[in-house]
Amino acid sequence: MSTNARAFPEEERALRENTWWDALCRRDKQADGRFVYGVKTTGIFCMPSCASRLPLRENVQFFVDAARQAGFRPCKRCCPGNPSREQRQCAAIERACQLMAQAETSLTLAQVAKAVGISPYHFHRLFKTQVGVTPKRYATALRGQRVRALLNGDAPVTQAALAAGFHSSEQFYQESHQLLGMPPRSFKHKGQGMTIHFTIGSCSLGAVLVAESERGVCAVLLGDDATALKNELHSLFANATLVEGDVAFEQRMALVIRAIDSPGAPLTLPLDIRGTAFQLRVLQALRDIPRGTTLSYRDVAEKIGQPDAVRAVAGACAANRLAVIVPCHRVIRTDGALSGYRWGIARKRQLLENEAKVSHDG
Ligand SMILES: [Zn+2]
Repeated sequence: MSTNARAFPEEERALRENTWWDALCRRDKQADGRFVYGVKTTGIFCMPSCASRLPLRENVQFFVDAARQAGFRPCKRCCPGNPSREQRQCAAIERACQLMAQAETSLTLAQVAKAVGISPYHFHRLFKTQVGVTPKRYATALRGQRVRALLNGDAPVTQAALAAGFHSSEQFYQESHQLLGMPPRSFKHKGQGMTIHFTIGSCSLGAVLVAESERGVCAVLLGDDATALKNELHSLFANATLVEGDVAFEQRMALVIRAIDSPGAPLTLPLDIRGTAFQLRVLQALRDIPRGTTLSYRDVAEKIGQPDAVRAVAGACAANRLAVIVPCHRVIRTDGALSGYRWGIARKRQLLENEAKVSHDG
């Protein structure tokens, strides 16, 4: 039987599989959908929560999704591969987020709920649980992203505001401070007055810390161990109140971890991106780099209309707090060398290889 279809550096895979083995021993329902395990002695694969007898560790082989290709048959008891009710609901909400993001004009809650086949009441509740904000606040965040993108172009402010779905330029000015992420006092003072929830999990790149402010995901940090990640978060938001997230929070943050592990999956959670006006323009340019492609620092500098600011662009990339989600890993040196990466050159290489693979696969 082949080894895991995707190649991971040995120690990172071991770290990840240890976490998965722990989840398997606990029959952790929350791990369902994140991995499956095959039992070499029976040729059958199961979901982590399956009630069948716990196999010996040495007989277990873990998969993200390729158990069938490796010759394992699905278990009749837990039916891996058939999405659970939670997974179907999760997919419906993700679809709703995409619909809202792609819509030219603002959609009503009833319209979105109907499009994904859920009653409006149920939809509102599910959306809030999964995304962490109401559909209305999510739509507001989307408008903010659109207006940021438009303002980076040549559109005058009023025109950009209307094109982004604001009803009036007045409404835009009311919300702009928050939406544009201009450095407010709390940013300058390392998170003073902010409450930040965070959780630490594992992904294919090792340990990952995901943090969220009241506005959205504010940090995604990669590392080798939990303590170092907590320290990094603390140094970024030294004056904020940091709160370890509960189970519901962890479930929502699993979406972020999934977006890291499957480069093709869109992340639909609102983001809290802060920085100077220059940094925001760089970060927006990074988000526009298509998956599976790279730009040089010079390319990015040209894209934001400041061809001489190559060093400052590199600085803004290095200051990125949202690993993978804001794809600073897609910026490399003009000569093609990978150059630096805040979270280590090995992770940058792995990310680019994964993305190239997904792009080639279709
Ligand atoms: Zn099973």
